[in-house]
Amino acid sequence: MSLQTEEIYRTLLLYSADAVIVTNPAGIITTTNPSFAKLVGSPIEELIGSSLDSIVVADWQEAEESENGKEQSKQEEEEESALKTVTVLTRVGTEFVMPAAHFPVYHDTKKAELAGYLTIIYVIQANSLQQAQTEFVSTVSHELRTPLTSIKGFADTILRAGERLDSSQQRRYVGIIKDQADRLTRLVEDLLAVSRLESKKLQLTIRAIDIREAIERVQQNLSDKAKKHTVIIQVPPGLTPVWADADRLEQILTNLVDNAIKYSPADTTVTISAKGIQGTPELVEFSVADQGVGIPEEHLPQVFSKFGRLDNPLVRQTEGTGLGLYITRSLVLALGGQITVESVPGGTTFTVRLPAATPEQQAARGRG
Ligand code: ADP
Repeated sequence: MSLQTEEIYRTLLLYSADAVIVTNPAGIITTTNPSFAKLVGSPIEELIGSSLDSIVVADWQEAEESENGKEQSKQEEEEESALKTVTVLTRVGTEFVMPAAHFPVYHDTKKAELAGYLTIIYVIQANSLQQAQTEFVSTVSHELRTPLTSIKGFADTILRAGERLDSSQQRRYVGIIKDQADRLTRLVEDLLAVSRLESKKLQLTIRAIDIREAIERVQQNLSDKAKKHTVIIQVPPGLTPVWADADRLEQILTNLVDNAIKYSPADTTVTISAKGIQGTPELVEFSVADQGVGIPEEHLPQVFSKFGRLDNPLVRQTEGTGLGLYITRSLVLALGGQITVESVPGGTTFTVRLPAATPEQQAARGRG
């Protein structure tokens, strides 16, 4: 190694935000960097000479075995297979669970003589993951507490003031309790949907689906909510069916139409349309357009994030968890599609593109 290269490696080690540890074949630390020292809370001099196993608890064996089994595979795959979750024991007795990788290092290119091991602990990745989890738990707790506070408050009032409340007051308070309990149920259902999507446990049953039928079912289901709006459906005859999961497609449409109704004033029109795309026969497009409050351009990217509720008068008046569009986009992506949004004051349009069923897939549907 030329001096220059050595200098580069030394600088990398010194300034890396991730912890890097080199051990000899017996697992004794021979080199490490300030990030590892900071993580453990011990100076580098003290760490050198200690056994890595006494500080980082991991089952490296499995990673090495799976790596050996894939000797021919590309370096990228090797790195992935070496990725483990380890527990770092700090000097003051606390523990951090973090992602890490562990590689054997050889004296020569023929991999004949083992020189030691290189371990990298991904500190930045661990921190951002932890931060995201903490933020999520705190937002969820806040969202759960709001309806609970209201339920408890009105239940207390009924218990304390019982006889003194006339029957219309009692009905009103019980009505609020029920609405808030419904809100809690929706929130828990949405959270479960998010958890299923994020854990990739989503079971999809893909088949050719007539989009007009799906839209009409959704319109029927939402007819109670849409009493003050005009809902128009525009689907050309003979439109190619989509290749999707029927329940998820309905959920996507329901979320979009429900929002269009919620965020547009009474006596306006919601248009649900579908069409083929010229030059792209492998996709079918449908959109839900409203004549509502619109979404300011700078807030457009935010609507698809978890709990991305924007502040406007209709948002304040309506019930929502802020999870609907996050779930919608995840479902669209799971079905191999794309979702986009365009908005001006006075109207918002969400457009979804999904794979079209091929003639063979449509034929299979006919037989099924
Ligand atoms: P929510 O439960 O609040 O409806 P969503 O994830 O479905 O959650 O939507 C996120 C936010 O995006 C809403 O709170 C609202 O501010 C905005 N939004 C969604 N759809 C529309 C629409 N059609 N018109 C205007 N704003 C919308």
